Amino acid sequence: MPKSSGPRSYLVLQNYIGGKFVSCGNHIDSYDPSTGEVYCKVPDSGKEEVDAAVAAAKEAFPDWSARSPQQRGEILNKLADLIEANMEDLIQAESKDQGKTVTFARTVDIPRSAYNFRFFASSVLHHTTDCSQMDHMGCLNYTVRCPVGVAGLISPWNLPLYLLTWKIAPAIATGNTVVAKPSEMTSVTAWMMCKLLEEAGVPPGVVNVVFGTGQRAGDALVGHPDVPLISFTGSTATAQRITERSAPYCKKLSLELGGKNPAIIFADADLEQCIETTIRSSFSNQGEICLCTSRIYVERSIYTEFLEKFVAAARKWKTGAPSDPSNNNGALISKEHLEKVRSFVALAKSEGAIIHCGEGVDQLDLPEANKSGYFMPPTVISGIPDSSRVMQEEIFGPVTCVCPFDTEDEAVARGNGVRYGLSATVWSRDVGRVHRLAQKLQAGLVWTNCWLVRDLNLPFGGMKHSGVGREGGKDSYHFFTEVKSITIKH
Ligand code: NAD
Repeated sequence: MPKSSGPRSYLVLQNYIGGKFVSCGNHIDSYDPSTGEVYCKVPDSGKEEVDAAVAAAKEAFPDWSARSPQQRGEILNKLADLIEANMEDLIQAESKDQGKTVTFARTVDIPRSAYNFRFFASSVLHHTTDCSQMDHMGCLNYTVRCPVGVAGLISPWNLPLYLLTWKIAPAIATGNTVVAKPSEMTSVTAWMMCKLLEEAGVPPGVVNVVFGTGQRAGDALVGHPDVPLISFTGSTATAQRITERSAPYCKKLSLELGGKNPAIIFADADLEQCIETTIRSSFSNQGEICLCTSRIYVERSIYTEFLEKFVAAARKWKTGAPSDPSNNNGALISKEHLEKVRSFVALAKSEGAIIHCGEGVDQLDLPEANKSGYFMPPTVISGIPDSSRVMQEEIFGPVTCVCPFDTEDEAVARGNGVRYGLSATVWSRDVGRVHRLAQKLQAGLVWTNCWLVRDLNLPFGGMKHSGVGREGGKDSYHFFTEVKSITIKH
């Protein structure tokens, strides 16, 4: 790894443009969230770097788009092989860069990053287009799909390589070339992946990665006239800016945004399984998953029992050094984010809510090296009205609120009573009820008696302020291609 000279050596990243690593004049500090120390310098790219990357992607497009899906798929599979061969390095790097536990990076982030390439290498081989006959007019209609061109891909910090590859894989499998901009807070694994591209056989210019902030590099990409398509995962506020910025160019947009996801728990649920899963759904990855549960509605007859057992289980969810395999959670992404998450707990307290465990109640016993890291224990709140900002806004940390409900209709109305609509979970053994709720809940994904089970063939995405568009086998294929209807008269 290139390191700078001087008293302290940092990992210094470079942009990857046209198949070459290119140095950048300015850098952004990147922190190890588990120690609070700067350890890496990320290029602070702007318009100039983005222009070069788009030009390289444009140049590579004619050859890449002309290859067959099989030829492209072979390269994607080779890239997956190389990610697997470098699995351990990528796991350690993702944990250090993001603050998540090594265990989480090992079981979720990096295996899924490899699988994203395998999935789309295969999936792209299995699509068919439409055909319709109009014999009375002597016509046959059919559709063709073609890649769009240079795709702009912008990803967040919570699942860095996982979400970036979820975009790169379908984009290049369908014949586009890409300019990707990972989050400036978690750029290291994307840079490590760039080192594998040439060996995998990805031609120069097919995948370009430009590092930097949203305000400079992201904005230049979204505002580039030669990038007709933007796939974005991140916050709703940023998506609104991207939508405005890209409007003059009529760009194709896919927006995967925030959530404020409810769990609705009925008295007939398997309580043991429900609590075990709802702890995971609330706190996994420090609560930094867009699909995390943050509002738990419990039928009143089991409310007290649920709350008692849930708080006891939350206290067992261990937070500490990411490298310690006995820990369930590591550090939050940044000092600013930790302060933001804490401020929601303070707000709840000031509004008269009860903080049952976690922030301000339980002390973390951290190793000396981690004392300045951004850690926060799982926090359970009750006695908070639905109108509170704590119940309305995405907190994106290890905080969840528990409330009782009396009727099914009430639970649905309260579950839907936020501006978001990403995911929801329902816990009940009553099949009829489960189907009714799944229909009525305003969420792109509804899980019943489980959480985070994903078939990548099916659509992923949110309603309302949680997003526009869907990703997944067929949906990503549709997004990353343009369809054309052709009529032949004989
Ligand atoms: P963010 O919106 O701050 O940043 C996301 C990306 O956008 C980063 O790469 C950032 O640099 C870039 N960006 C910021 N401003 C930009 C601009 N003006 N123009 C172009 N790009 C810009 O989000 P974040 O804090 O990195 O991630 C957390 C958010 O992501 C949460 O809201 C979470 O729910 C959401 N998220 C959603 C999903 C999903 O699939 N729906 C998945 C993961 C995370």
